[in-house]
Amino acid sequence: MLIYNSLTEKKEILKKPFFRKLKLFVCGPTVYDSPHIGNLRTFMSFDIIVRYLRSRGFKVFYLQNITDVDDKIIARAEQEKTSWKNISERYEKEFIENNTLLNIGMVDRYARATDHIPAIISQVTTLIKKGYAYRIDGDGWYFDLSKFPDYGKLAHRTIAQAEDGVSRIDTSRNKKNTGDFCLWKFSSSENKKYEPSWDAPFGSGRPGWHIEDTAITESFFGIQYDIHGGGVDLKFPHHEAEIAQQESASGKKPFVKLWMHVGFLQVNGQKMSKSLGNFVTVHDILSKLSPDEFRLLILQHHYRAAFNFSDDAVSFTKTNFRQIVDFLAQLALVAEKGSGKNEDVLRAEITKFEVSFHKAMEDDFNTPEALAALHTLMNAAYNDLYSLSPRVAQKTREVCISSLKNLGFKDILPAIPEKVSELVAERELSRIHKQFTHADALRNDVRALGYEVEDTPLGPFVRKSIK
Ligand code: AMP
Repeated sequence: MLIYNSLTEKKEILKKPFFRKLKLFVCGPTVYDSPHIGNLRTFMSFDIIVRYLRSRGFKVFYLQNITDVDDKIIARAEQEKTSWKNISERYEKEFIENNTLLNIGMVDRYARATDHIPAIISQVTTLIKKGYAYRIDGDGWYFDLSKFPDYGKLAHRTIAQAEDGVSRIDTSRNKKNTGDFCLWKFSSSENKKYEPSWDAPFGSGRPGWHIEDTAITESFFGIQYDIHGGGVDLKFPHHEAEIAQQESASGKKPFVKLWMHVGFLQVNGQKMSKSLGNFVTVHDILSKLSPDEFRLLILQHHYRAAFNFSDDAVSFTKTNFRQIVDFLAQLALVAEKGSGKNEDVLRAEITKFEVSFHKAMEDDFNTPEALAALHTLMNAAYNDLYSLSPRVAQKTREVCISSLKNLGFKDILPAIPEKVSELVAERELSRIHKQFTHADALRNDVRALGYEVEDTPLGPFVRKSIK
């Protein structure tokens, strides 16, 4: 299993650890608003990655944080004249509901920042004691980047290039170095009503953005672990700051062995984001694509590559999904009614598919290649689909279904409603008795229920109509 490591900029072999689970942490959402499909690209990509690893026998402990304390949450609370807790609980609930809708279900443990305040206070205390943090009166505690020469090793930058690293609550005129980031923000008097605050020996306040992740991972995994993931925008400064915090606090390197970053979902070449206003919500996407179709849209692109979301991408995905679903349904028809005798037809192609599918997935989760392998098998089968032997059709179907399920598809075998099946059976009888006008009327009745009938050498084949 080869995985591209952003830290070394190379593909590396991922080994199964002995007697323990692989420890994976992925940066979760900041719960201040409804997520857009850019956020979901990252979460769905890791869902696919973990599903595949588990299907290959890797035991994984998949941990994800939920940022439920942040400037954006406080600003939203102030805007709505409600508590920060109301805001974070509302959007956390929505996040979990979206995950369920989209079958994003591999996370073992979600960890809220506010449930880990003692661990955060303990890390900040260590950093202060070891001389990595300094206090700015009336503001907070900051990490001193000049004390950590390795800063920039993940994003391949230097400390001097940290000026654009200022993010979220890190702006302060009194910092020692431009890129220094906030570890702990003192409570402000004017915002008290909307802003959470916790007592700490170094002053009451709230955690900075980066410290929650290292405190959470240290609580669950210890000071070092296997894989850290997130969107590519988090590589710098967020992940860089995490490295600085944890390696300084523990004195142990590397904090994380392997870093994985998901490319942007874009619109016209620009990152999809709330601030640019070019975003598509889950609600919007589910009015155009089913959860499985959205998954296919994600799978059609390698997880590290940026890709554009567009109407063309949506219709291409719908067609692709339909081809796959129809193929499986046609194979079911052949498995049930076929009379082909040659058991060797397609045998080599099935083996080739299995080999190519896993080869692609084991090469840094190359999902476009894995899907291409499926289409190669489909093309080979379509050479003479209705002459396949029932056993071969069944075997082909099983192999495809198992591969697709391992990628997280759940509705690839849509059931035909009983009423539709009855009408189709009646139409078939009418056709046999040459009552073609009645048969056509029944076809229209089927169509009115949202289905199409196609006549094949093995009898009628029914599929959902395209919307
Ligand atoms: P946030 O809620 O802003 O903290 O983001 C949650 C996750 O979504 C992070 O891992 C981000 O890197 C990721 N993300 C945000 N926008 C995009 C995008 N347009 N494409 C891919 N991932 C994104």
